[in-house]
Amino acid sequence: MNIELICCPICQSDLEKKSEFILFCDSCNKEYIIKNDIPVLLKERI
Ligand SMILES: [Zn+2]
Repeated sequence: MNIELICCPICQSDLEKKSEFILFCDSCNKEYIIKNDIPVLLKERI
C-alpha cells in the first residue's frame, strides 16, 4: 500500500504517517488509524 497516495477525506490534504498505525492530517489536526494495512478514513460520527 502506498501511503503517499492517500489524502484526508475531509480537506483532501496529504496525510502524514505518524507511526506504523497512525496517519495524521496537518490541516484538520486529525488522526486516522491504520487497520490491517488499510487506513480508516472515516469522518467523525459524533
Ligand atoms: Zn484533513
